[in-house]
Amino acid sequence: MANQEDVFKKLVSHCKEYGFVFPSSEIYDGLGAVYDYGQNGVELKNNIKRYWWEAMTKLHENIVGIDAAIFMHPTVWKASGHVDAFNDPLIDNRDSKKRYRADVLIEEQLAKIEDKINKEIEKARKRFGEAFDEAQFRATNGRVLEHQAKWDALHQRYSDAMNKMDLEELKQIILDEEIVCPISGTRNWTDVRQFNLMFSTEMGSTADGAMKIYLRPETAQGIFVNYLNVQKSGRMKLPFGIAQIGKAFRNEIVARQFIFRMREFEQMEMQFFIKPGTELDWFAKWKKTRLAWHKALGFGDAMYRYHDHEKLAHYANAATDIEFNMPFGFKEVEGIHSRTNFDLSQHAKYSGKKIEYFDPETRESYVPYVIETSIGVDRMFLSIMAGAFKEEEVNGERRVVLALPPALAPVKVAILPLVNKDGLPEKAEEILRELRYDYTCQIEVKDSIGKRYRRQDAIGTPYCVTVDGQTLEDNTVTLRFRDTMEQERVAIADLHKIIGDSVNISSLLRKIEND
Ligand code: ATP
Repeated sequence: MANQEDVFKKLVSHCKEYGFVFPSSEIYDGLGAVYDYGQNGVELKNNIKRYWWEAMTKLHENIVGIDAAIFMHPTVWKASGHVDAFNDPLIDNRDSKKRYRADVLIEEQLAKIEDKINKEIEKARKRFGEAFDEAQFRATNGRVLEHQAKWDALHQRYSDAMNKMDLEELKQIILDEEIVCPISGTRNWTDVRQFNLMFSTEMGSTADGAMKIYLRPETAQGIFVNYLNVQKSGRMKLPFGIAQIGKAFRNEIVARQFIFRMREFEQMEMQFFIKPGTELDWFAKWKKTRLAWHKALGFGDAMYRYHDHEKLAHYANAATDIEFNMPFGFKEVEGIHSRTNFDLSQHAKYSGKKIEYFDPETRESYVPYVIETSIGVDRMFLSIMAGAFKEEEVNGERRVVLALPPALAPVKVAILPLVNKDGLPEKAEEILRELRYDYTCQIEVKDSIGKRYRRQDAIGTPYCVTVDGQTLEDNTVTLRFRDTMEQERVAIADLHKIIGDSVNISSLLRKIEND
């Protein structure tokens, strides 16, 4: 585990050192859980968004996009349930003055009990070797059974309290379990309070005319309130989808783990409108389609898993997460939810407008059901950086390489004049002018060629083109491949053909389709 933590730390400093992610307002010591993307980060992020957008809109004839405003009428958030229920239960420790999520404290306690069970199992596995039967051990070992009973009882009590949002009971659990603040080590807790995660601001200039509005906590509602507009203006027939990429804001109580949990982040959401009764089939289909999108990146199938939800929101009838094996364990990157007709019905109720679909086949009107796929750009970014980050030994030297899918790499081709004189920089410029319409290129002239290769490896550039004296004579260059570090002498005229489509989003899209 320490090793994994180490990897994560290295990853975070790599992101900063190579211009991927900086803490926001860093010269003022930063702002909690807010980050800026740097010169390489923005390219990678844009490529991720393009990969998602094109997979949605180009590969599905019946999915179109929108770009709704961040500010929305405040009643939207009343109708969606966010004003009343988008809350986390928080608790403060009076001694350390630190704030925690009550649910997270209890979940950590559950995880501790699970750890104890796992330790017993690992001990027994070592003792029994090949003959070890885990299921039998779990069912018969006294200590495991004792821990399991404790876990079951706590889990039951916790689920009941969360379902009823019984804040007193949540506090009582924390007291009964003797959970201490990790900073002060004391049990001097305040009461548990509800904390709404929405940021608010005011619109309008006069004091009495000002209206309290929210920064949207999800992009989905912009899609729901535009359902009729898109359906009518686009003459869309069910089933069809609306996709959107945009910023969302949540005043997270405990924001940690770098860009995994931010207060300002970006979502890519798609709401797929369908006929009631067909939702479980569509849910299964979207689960599969979305996982294939992730797997086409090539980080290995074992890096992903589904996590089906047992506890569903009251309006959902199926939900699953796609989790990625981050340096801090498997974590949610994307959620896929079957949301019934909850959102559209709520907006119909609150707006007084009829939000229905007239089915030309059955000649009946109904409120469509919705399957939602919802993914965080920043979490996806983190999973890609984590999957791509590699440290290798090359001839006794350490090489850090970002094995990014070439189509996502910030720079596709680095053009490197061997020396910064003798007409080589000019030749490099000439090659750049040739390639830049198709590929994001960069010319680098400083430092030894070895150092420049390392720097390009560290930002994930799949191809380096080295220009030397011979180039001036015969128009050939050395083409170096990031992953194998192999070098080949090739004609400038052939570069296009060799690089081809391998660095374009279309090559990734084809991979999803062909799988
Ligand atoms: P979590 O349980 O981790 O808070 P969630 O279940 O509330 O996430 P959803 O509301 O389903 O998340 O949001 C969909 C996606 O948006 C998530 O899968 C995640 O990728 C992203 N996301 C949500 N909250 C954040 C955040 N604070 N920072 C970055 N990404 C986020």
